[in-house]
Amino acid sequence: MRLGEVAEKLGIEEWRLKGALERQSVQLIENFRPRYLIFKKDIAGVERGTAVFLGNELTVVRGFPKIMRAFYLVPLLRKHFASRVAVEEKMNGYNVRLALVEGRLLALTRGGFVCPYTTAKLSGDRNAESFLKEHPELVICGEAVGEKNPYVVHRYEEAGDFGFFVFDLRNRESNSAMPVLERNRLLEEYGIKHVRLFGVYRKEEAAQKIFEVVRRLAGEGREGVVIKDPEMKLPPVKYTSSQTNASDLAYAFRFPYEYGREFFFSRIIREGFQAVEWKEGEKELEERALRLGKSILLPMVESIKRVKKGEVLTEDYELEFASEAELEEFLTYLRRQGVSVVIEESERSDGHLKVVLRRLRHSSTDRIRSVLSGRGE
Ligand code: ATP
Ligand code: MG
Repeated sequence: MRLGEVAEKLGIEEWRLKGALERQSVQLIENFRPRYLIFKKDIAGVERGTAVFLGNELTVVRGFPKIMRAFYLVPLLRKHFASRVAVEEKMNGYNVRLALVEGRLLALTRGGFVCPYTTAKLSGDRNAESFLKEHPELVICGEAVGEKNPYVVHRYEEAGDFGFFVFDLRNRESNSAMPVLERNRLLEEYGIKHVRLFGVYRKEEAAQKIFEVVRRLAGEGREGVVIKDPEMKLPPVKYTSSQTNASDLAYAFRFPYEYGREFFFSRIIREGFQAVEWKEGEKELEERALRLGKSILLPMVESIKRVKKGEVLTEDYELEFASEAELEEFLTYLRRQGVSVVIEESERSDGHLKVVLRRLRHSSTDRIRSVLSGRGE
């Protein structure tokens, strides 16, 4: 399977790659042309989410690196960054990497899979396509946002049903990222949308600006910021509002057994540190406590009641497809990933297929049911 060639291209030893394949830390996807390898874990410095397409040529698309979170901002800025920081909006959608593979524009998820839905939505994007044709060594990293997607549904005025906002241009093979201002200039030249840049600040004055921005964003139902070294030589840091945190928790507690405990823990701990750093008084703390408590308790109570009535926990997604074949391809993709869905509604309108896809949350339903029927933990 050209393992030697792949290993050499990635700069890792062949026996490591071979071992990883045997342990399934690297997986071969055979039902796609060209076939490709996916890294399910970090291996010898190659990030989880890396995909290697085994076409006539090898096309490596390195995984998108994990972004560190700031819990307590001031000392972290001082310690972590050089002299200045670029503050960008962090948009709440899902991570997409766009790359040209054998002349075709493909959209990869964070995990490294080619997502047929996202690929269909973005492959008509002439600007992105001509950009990648002229810069085939790059990968466009951005956030897909809006109300019609199968992953993260969040309304953005500027996005409509489906939007895509770029936050990184990286070298596909080395994963090095382009400096922030140069990146935006280049994207603008091609008419490609990027996330908002609030400004570039000295690191000593940045925290106050960031607190202001994050408070304002919170009021607008927006997530927060990512703080970057303008040169992109140092890893970025994310910082988000308590409101976003609460809505993440509210979402996750609808299906409490679907998420790892770390997901909840980290989101609760953040609230403590932010409250102290923002020097909150009694009234603000009270508000924060109420928001946090409600986001945990209310959706969970709702879900337990639903299961008690005999319902299965579900979640609906509104999607749009160009054809039946596109829908079928996406359903096949989801089922292969082990996602359980049914079509709740489908309607043809002006050449499009509008579908409501219902995802069944079996593991939370089953666990809640068994507790209700007398099981202890
Ligand atoms: P991670 O593994 O990166 O922590 P996560 O699922 O916890 O992933 P988030 O908490 O949403 O993700 O934060 C990281 C993600 O934020 C990135 O993977 C990217 O998709 C998204 N993002 C949105 N806006 C930006 C931006 N301006 N710069 C970088 N990433 C951004
Ligand atoms: Mg996110």
